[in-house]
Amino acid sequence: MKNLKLWALCAIVAGYLTSCQKEDISDTTVEEVAQQPSKSQLEKLSNMGVNTDNVTIEDIELPDGSKEKHLVSGDITIPINDLKKYAELTSLDGNNKQYQSDYIVAPAYRNIRVLGWTGAGYDLTSKMQTALSWAVNNYNALPNTLNFTLTFGTDQSQADMVIYKLNGAAGGSAGFPTSDGKPNRYIRIFSGLDAYNTNVVEHVMGHEIGHSIGFRHQDWFNRWSCGYTGPLPAEPSVSPAAIWIPGTPWSPYEDSIMLACFGASEDGEFTSSDIDALNILY
Ligand SMILES: [Zn+2]
Repeated sequence: MKNLKLWALCAIVAGYLTSCQKEDISDTTVEEVAQQPSKSQLEKLSNMGVNTDNVTIEDIELPDGSKEKHLVSGDITIPINDLKKYAELTSLDGNNKQYQSDYIVAPAYRNIRVLGWTGAGYDLTSKMQTALSWAVNNYNALPNTLNFTLTFGTDQSQADMVIYKLNGAAGGSAGFPTSDGKPNRYIRIFSGLDAYNTNVVEHVMGHEIGHSIGFRHQDWFNRWSCGYTGPLPAEPSVSPAAIWIPGTPWSPYEDSIMLACFGASEDGEFTSSDIDALNILY
């Protein structure tokens, strides 16, 4: 395996150098280039119901400038050092439905204090701040047990959820609630999203908040919203699967704010099945 990686690296370097001696490349270099998740880390993610097709390890910046190593699958990020805090799914459901994680936000933590970050370097743009307030209003308009309070600033000590900006292509990323019942804490919004209109930014804000309170992707099994064109599997290819929320549609092609990919015409609003799912869970 190590040799394979070395030769792959050689192939890349060979484009720029006339020769590539195996012994020129230290193990340290290989480790830095590789950043591949281990088999046990992938198994853990799979058992959490996360798609493991393209998982990478990334150093993700927090708004205080520190870095934290995460396993990254699309826009889902799980801190490696806290992997044990995430429950593995025990229930298997073979159909393509709307899914939840095993753990949702516990009643004690359902008054969620959201902080829109305004600190230099990681500050949300004014468009992002507006979109965040719209997304939070969408959640608060639902007659359920979740309540969000939104403030803007840099005092993390009073926040349960911190939303900040990082440089990157349009999108966002977030994790899941931990098994102690707390919502995911950090949500990242990437700077490229600012080129889209406020409704699209509202959609991504609502989507990442959705992950943070326990929602997986509606199309997690094949990510059809990202351009999947192959045959629909009879059953999800990962096992155990995420959990269907009774009362929500079974169709694998149902529209949802929790589809894995978004487009430029998103309106930022919940679909009726999103509302059902939220009100059933909470
Ligand atoms: Zn997502």
